[in-house]
Amino acid sequence: MSEDLWSGTPGQSLAVAQLQAAVANPVHAYLLLGPAGAGTRSAARSFAAALLCPDGGCGTCNHCTRAMALHHPDLIVPRHDGPGWRVDEIREIAGQAQRRPLEAARTVILLADAHLLGGAAPALLKTLEEPPVTTTFILLADDLPRSLETIRSRCAEVRFELLNQQAIIEILEHDGLDPERAAEIAEGAAGDAIRARLLVADPGFASRLARWRGVPQRLDGTGRTVVAIVEEIQASLDEAVAPLVAHHVAELAELDAQAKELGLRVSGRKELLDHHKREIRAYREGEIRAGLGVLARAYRVDLAAAVAAGADPAVVVAMARVDAISRYVTVMRRNPRPSLSLERLLLALC
Ligand SMILES: [Zn+2]
Repeated sequence: MSEDLWSGTPGQSLAVAQLQAAVANPVHAYLLLGPAGAGTRSAARSFAAALLCPDGGCGTCNHCTRAMALHHPDLIVPRHDGPGWRVDEIREIAGQAQRRPLEAARTVILLADAHLLGGAAPALLKTLEEPPVTTTFILLADDLPRSLETIRSRCAEVRFELLNQQAIIEILEHDGLDPERAAEIAEGAAGDAIRARLLVADPGFASRLARWRGVPQRLDGTGRTVVAIVEEIQASLDEAVAPLVAHHVAELAELDAQAKELGLRVSGRKELLDHHKREIRAYREGEIRAGLGVLARAYRVDLAAAVAAGADPAVVVAMARVDAISRYVTVMRRNPRPSLSLERLLLALC
């Protein structure tokens, strides 16, 4: 088994090992669970190649290279048209699952966005439970709502955690960035490789990072300062999403032009707008998470200094601050609109 085949998924050795071990004798369905920026997509592609390769993923043969390029006749990669999967789309996939492989020993179906199955999930269940022996499903999901527990229970689950900074640095260096810049960007990437790549092209990123680093010095215990800082952060979030918004505008224009050319009434516009809204919200959350990560690291430096100096009261204070931030981040991950406001968190850090 080639290491090269899996080199696109650094920092996920546990998940990758689990998938590699599954290649020789795969079950009928796998669920790769984790944020998109953690590398689930590239891992799924490598896994598909390994399943189609007669040598379990040599990384160089015709099967491997075509599967990695998503151009293998026995690798089916369906896409959903709208913001989520529709029943008719899932029925079609269920039909494809019955087909015999053309060249490889099996058919692999790589189904992304399984968290968007919604009402179409029942149409997939039976196939997922007993597909033909030559068909293997690889499902990808950012997170699985409880309503899709039935899907989860029919799959072997492989979890992907957010990446650590070193893994992000490796990805960026692999992209050709110099080590210093890679390290700087990794600090603001919040464990998300997709976000890291967007930051590379983001000129305002360094100043936003500097603002978060400067927060501890500015906190003076007054509500007025906290409000001012939060206002600046909100403004910087608007600045941060600007490149994404520009990309969305271009995408919409393209959709409209296409519809005009085909003489169609604009279709899919609302779905695209919804998708854009979700992307922007997720990006803003990532930005806040990254900022809080920078803040937590600043307080961890205080903590280390206090421990080294044997200053017990300072240790207690620094620990409480690091804890408060990590609790806030945990709550934020579960609930995009945490009940505890950023203002209250900053006041607690004073
Ligand atoms: Zn191969």
